[in-house]
Amino acid sequence: MTARDQLTGYVALQRLLDRRAALKRELDTPPEALAALRTQFAERHEQLAAARARREELAAEQATLQREAEALAEEREHFRKQKSQVTNVKQLSAVVSELDHVETQYKAKEDRLLEILQGLEAAEAAIATLGAESPEERALREQAEAAWEQRRQASAGELSALENELRSVQAQLGKAAMDRFRKLWSSRKPNAVVAMDGTACSACHGDLRPSLVQLVRQAEELQFCDHCRRLLYDPEQFQPPA
Ligand SMILES: [Zn+2]
Repeated sequence: MTARDQLTGYVALQRLLDRRAALKRELDTPPEALAALRTQFAERHEQLAAARARREELAAEQATLQREAEALAEEREHFRKQKSQVTNVKQLSAVVSELDHVETQYKAKEDRLLEILQGLEAAEAAIATLGAESPEERALREQAEAAWEQRRQASAGELSALENELRSVQAQLGKAAMDRFRKLWSSRKPNAVVAMDGTACSACHGDLRPSLVQLVRQAEELQFCDHCRRLLYDPEQFQPPA
């Protein structure tokens, strides 16, 4: 295998590896608009769950308070009857004091029950608002999901074709050339094989000696940047496949 063939294979590998990295990034990154819709949807569900939990909590407290208020009302009735049957001032003052006490407790329960009722109304309103994703919102979200899924599938298809191409280039290069590439790659990834940029290295931007530029153009041997030790090629001669 000539050095030019080897360089051709290395340039192809570098381009395939670049494309593979880009595809993998693409597959891992849903479009921003979709990510925003997903976040919005998730937040709405969290708020909805919180409102439902709040409603349950309030309903439970309401049930307890209602039982307690009923018991107090019975007690009050009992003391009112007693009050009508007292026979002296001492008894009267004792019953009135009990009655006051029960009345205060009852009032507190009633006040809290009113608060709970308002809280329940607020929770119900929140649930009604949050629970209803409008058909338009839903369509928008589902469309965005479907478009993303389609793009993902296209990327996944391209990725699998690309893996095949990678294997084929590797096979063409053979073991010795691949070992050499891997060594270069392991120390210089993700850019091991780089184009000249005029008379400079496109990776480190260091200027190249005129004689080195000449050698890179001739492509009779592999040439490396003096500064960053990356493998250089002349982009005029190694153009990406159309
Ligand atoms: Zn360089």
